[in-house]
Amino acid sequence: MRGLDLRIHVWLTAFQKDVDGRVKPGHDEKNGATMHDDDDTPAHCGTGKTRLYVDAAMAAGGDVALDKDQSHYLINVLRMGEGERVLVFNGRDGEWAAEIAEASKKAAVLRVIERTRAHQPLPDIWLLFAPVKRARLDFIAQKATEMGASMIQPVITHRTVVSRVKDQRLQANVIEAAEQCGLVALPEVREAEKLDGLLAHWSKQGGAGKEGTEREAPRRILFCDEAAAPGDAKATLERLAAEGGRGAPWALLIGPEGGFDAEERAKLHARKDTVAISLGPRILRADTAAIAALAAVQMVLGDW
Ligand code: SAH
Repeated sequence: MRGLDLRIHVWLTAFQKDVDGRVKPGHDEKNGATMHDDDDTPAHCGTGKTRLYVDAAMAAGGDVALDKDQSHYLINVLRMGEGERVLVFNGRDGEWAAEIAEASKKAAVLRVIERTRAHQPLPDIWLLFAPVKRARLDFIAQKATEMGASMIQPVITHRTVVSRVKDQRLQANVIEAAEQCGLVALPEVREAEKLDGLLAHWSKQGGAGKEGTEREAPRRILFCDEAAAPGDAKATLERLAAEGGRGAPWALLIGPEGGFDAEERAKLHARKDTVAISLGPRILRADTAAIAALAAVQMVLGDW
């Protein structure tokens, strides 16, 4: 009965469109859960609180002006009013409790009260992936954020079919996932780039972090090679960890639905800064491969 009840409630709340016609996540007030636009399950990751990403600097007592979309979401969709509390984060200063100071439907203002959580940097793991079609691209951006990738970038390989990727769409998915899953840090989103060009200037990538902090260690590429012999991914990752790879800068590389071509594979295998790994004896779809690889790498080389 509870399941049915929840489903009806979700159905009622999950399809609220904003002024541009974009479907926004609804809100299940009974369960305090934020809903995804296109599925019928609670989409938050257990925070149960309304969390908003804002770009502004944050300090106790300061005001944060919300944009039109966020004001609409808070005041019209969630029907929140003056004095009610939300959590806000900007990806740099941790998470803060804030109170609605002006419940304007177009330009609401929050008053920042106190810090609820400190900033927590992400492990230095990038995800480079050949772009796929819309829904799967959204999935990759959302899940990579949840998995703690510190940078995501579409790479155009020889067999990539999808050539135009909207950064803004990737960014919106990253923000949505970070809001819903209690993250205080967001992955950087970089513009799509050709794999050949990216590899040509790769040595310059170094370990430069999000804030531009140069590091000595070069960033190595973990090349997910569908043609690699399966069975030794764990041993390979553990060897890299034993050599000091845990916490080091890494970039995972995932190919397109058509796979890497022979020239790309040869080029990648020939590089000293590249390690090929198999994701098992079954071929995974690119979006599945991205998330599976992030899980394996987080477990052995990241912060799991
Ligand atoms: N069409 C290709 C598969 C491409 S799958 C073929 O049939 O061989 C898309 C991408 O996901 C691959 O380029 C690779 O980066 C990754 N991938 C999928 N399955 C994998 C596996 N078992 N091992 C390593 N990488 C894999």
